[in-house]
Amino acid sequence: MSAAPTPFRRLAVIGIGLIGSSIARAAREHGQAAEIVAADQSAAHRAEALKLGVVDAAFADPAEAVRGADLVILCVPLGAYAAVAQAMAPGLAAGAIVSDVGSSKQSVLRDVCPHLPSGVVFIPGHPVAGTEHSGPAAGFAALFKGRWCILTPTEGTDPALLDKLSGFWAAFGSKVEIMDAKHHDLVLAITSHVPHLIAYNIVGTADDLQAVTQSEVIKYSAGGFRDFTRIAASDPTMWRDVFLNNKEAVLEMLQRFTEDLTALQRAIRWDDGEALFKLFSRTRAIRRAIIDAGQEVNAPDFGRVGAPPEKK
Ligand code: NAP
Repeated sequence: MSAAPTPFRRLAVIGIGLIGSSIARAAREHGQAAEIVAADQSAAHRAEALKLGVVDAAFADPAEAVRGADLVILCVPLGAYAAVAQAMAPGLAAGAIVSDVGSSKQSVLRDVCPHLPSGVVFIPGHPVAGTEHSGPAAGFAALFKGRWCILTPTEGTDPALLDKLSGFWAAFGSKVEIMDAKHHDLVLAITSHVPHLIAYNIVGTADDLQAVTQSEVIKYSAGGFRDFTRIAASDPTMWRDVFLNNKEAVLEMLQRFTEDLTALQRAIRWDDGEALFKLFSRTRAIRRAIIDAGQEVNAPDFGRVGAPPEKK
C-alpha cells in the first residue's frame, strides 16, 4: 500500500536555525512534505542539519533550495529578508507559496514582495513560539504545539492557498489566527518586543551598577532578576532586527509604558499604596488568565522544567 500523498511536494526552509529546524522536524513528523530541504549561509549549520537528519539536502544558495519547492518558508533574521528574497527569486516556480516566521510583519511585506516573480504567492506568518536558544540543534518538533501561529495575508490572497498554509500549521498542533500585518505589529510590540527590551535594559542596568557587585547580582537573582535574564539571553541578531523592523509600534508602546512607569514612580514617592495595590491585583489576574488559557504553567520557576540542580 502506498503512503498517503503529502500536502506539499517540496518544502524549502531558508535559515535552518531554531525556528527553521523546528519546522523541518515538525513537517517530517506530521507528514507535511515529501522532501524537505534547507538553505543557510552557515556551512556549520548546513552540516549539522544534515547530520541531525532534519533535512534531505542543504544548500548555500537559496535559489537552489527553492527550485521545485511548492512551499518556501523564510526563517532568517529580519535584517536578511530583502537579500534572501532577491537571491532565491531566480529559483522560484509559479504556484509556489512563500511564507515566513518573522517577528514583525509590515517590514516583511516591504522587503520580500518587490523581489517575487509573478505567480508566486506570499503569505506572511509568525509562530508565536520560541526559546532563547539558536541554531539547528536547538529546534524540536513540538515547539509549535498549542501555540498560536498568526498569518497576515493581504487583500488579494487566494483563500484556498491561505487554507492550505493554515492546515500546515494546524498539523503541528498550532492554533491559527488571521490578522492584518499592522495590527500584528502592534499586538506583538506589547506582548513580546517591549518585554524583551525591558529585560535587556534591566539586565544591562544591573551589570553597570557600581554599588552592587556582579557576584551579588547572581547570588540573589532568585528575587526576580533571573527571570529577566532568561529573556535577555535571546539571540542578539534576531532582536536587533526586531527593534529596527518594528520601530513604529515599539516606540508607540514604549511611550505608553513610560507614562505608566512615571505614574508608578509618583505613587511610590507619595506613598500611594492604594494605587500600587490596585495595579498589582489587576496584573495578578492577567497572569491567572494566561495560565487558564494554557499559555503558561503555574510553576514558581516561570515555566522552566524543574528547579535548577542544588549547588554543592
Ligand atoms: P537562528 O536560530 O539564529 O537561525 C537563523 C538561521 O538563519 C541561522 O542558521 C543563520 O546563520 C541563518 N541566516 C542568517 N542570515 C542568513 C542569510 N542571509 N542567508 C541564509 N541564512 C541566513 O534564529 P531563529 O531564532 O530561528 O529566528 C529566525 C527567525 O524566526 C527570525 O526572523 C525571528 O524573528 C523569527 N522568530 C524567532 C522566534 C524565537 O523565539 N527565536 C520566535 C518566532 C519567530 P548564522 O547563524 O550564520 O547567522
